[in-house]
Amino acid sequence: MRIESSLDERLHWDRQHYWHAFTQMAEYQPLVVDRAEGVWLFDATGRALLDGVSSMWCNVHGHRHPVIDRAIVDQLHRVAHVTSLGMSNSTTIELVRRLVEVTPQSLECVCFSSDGACAVEIALKMAFQYWRQIAEPQPNRNLFLALGDAYHGDTLGSVSVGGVSRFHAMFHPLLFDVVRGPCPDSYRLPPGVTEAEAAAYYLREYELLIEQFKDRLAAVIVEPIVQGAAGMVIHPPGFLRGMRDLTRKHGILLIADEVATGIGRTGRLWGCDWEDVQPDFLCTGKGLTGGYLPMAATITTREIWNAFLGEYHESRSFFHGHTFGGNPLAAAAALATLDLFETEKTLENVAARGEQLDEFLRPLREHPHVGSIRRQGLMAAVELVSSRASQTPFPWAERRGWRACNAALDRQVWLRPLGNVIVIMPPLCCREEHIEQIAASVIHGVHAATID
Ligand code: PMP
Repeated sequence: MRIESSLDERLHWDRQHYWHAFTQMAEYQPLVVDRAEGVWLFDATGRALLDGVSSMWCNVHGHRHPVIDRAIVDQLHRVAHVTSLGMSNSTTIELVRRLVEVTPQSLECVCFSSDGACAVEIALKMAFQYWRQIAEPQPNRNLFLALGDAYHGDTLGSVSVGGVSRFHAMFHPLLFDVVRGPCPDSYRLPPGVTEAEAAAYYLREYELLIEQFKDRLAAVIVEPIVQGAAGMVIHPPGFLRGMRDLTRKHGILLIADEVATGIGRTGRLWGCDWEDVQPDFLCTGKGLTGGYLPMAATITTREIWNAFLGEYHESRSFFHGHTFGGNPLAAAAALATLDLFETEKTLENVAARGEQLDEFLRPLREHPHVGSIRRQGLMAAVELVSSRASQTPFPWAERRGWRACNAALDRQVWLRPLGNVIVIMPPLCCREEHIEQIAASVIHGVHAATID
């Protein structure tokens, strides 16, 4: 029989045996969350913390939302899991239909996986295989073009297209070659380039690369509108649209990695919606199930799907699948999540809360160590710099962002930084008082992290 361990025992096992991702285990201080409700997390000692980063950017309608809870329980009474390999289930079929209805018009076919990185791997492999299986195959198209500072997940394919050197450089010998363009940053602009000229400048750079590798490129992969793990880098308006036009002009596929930006995070259901972009692949994960269960999807066009059809002996199928892809419990959560966007007018809330966040963060605008306050929907960041005028970053080992987030705990807000960038990504259901509390904690954190 299993004997329940005491809190002290659990802390010990957490500290000594539980290997946490992106965490230096030599210094890890256990924080054990055993209960949550709405935007609140409750730790094992009963302390309440506002979930300021939506449990790694994925919670949408709050924790323990009754509608999502009910949808999962109802599904549990039918079936918890059946495979999607050569078999189906009604709930997941309903979700396929909803996803085709709510994604850009070009997208008609859905392949499920469990995490964002897998959704990206699938898009990369489908694009690669597509060029080998079209009527006039182009097997030289085996290169991908990716953006500077891109982040697409932690599997080897998604790391290959990733460009955050602190995370990815170590694995370089294991990765495939990628053509890399500049990060289309609208805060740190190239010398002599104004904000108004930025999109055209970056697009020119990309067109040069596309021309150089013209017949070898399979696809371009982008995080639409905002590059999350790069530090909430917001692209200049028009960049995404321009990239779609360039890829069409040169006959290259476009993969939109909406794992972070999708499901309402930027203020529209998809980042692509801001610039009316129809990609060849859209990857979604994180918020797809409201942040409840692991599910991701790669949604693509009929043209891609058709290239995989054929006689059995031709072996044109897509030989890639995950045991839990299309899991019906997750599908039920995803359907409820999409329903709630309508019943709770979530996107209207995102617009209103975003504007309030700008207002509440106003006192930081002139702070000598705040280089940039940027936001798209409820994807926001405050970047700390050693010099505002030169936009010089603090040395990363000084951990200014971490110090700010640690201080924010004094105000009952849980935040997790990216280097010098304080990330603000509350659940999309948050209310004004939550935004006010988060902003107050960030202001407190910025002061605490920059006093010396
Ligand atoms: N793509 C983007 C844009 C992401 O931000 C992330 C995760 N932060 C991923 C892919 C990977 O998703 P997962 O962690 O679910 O594998």
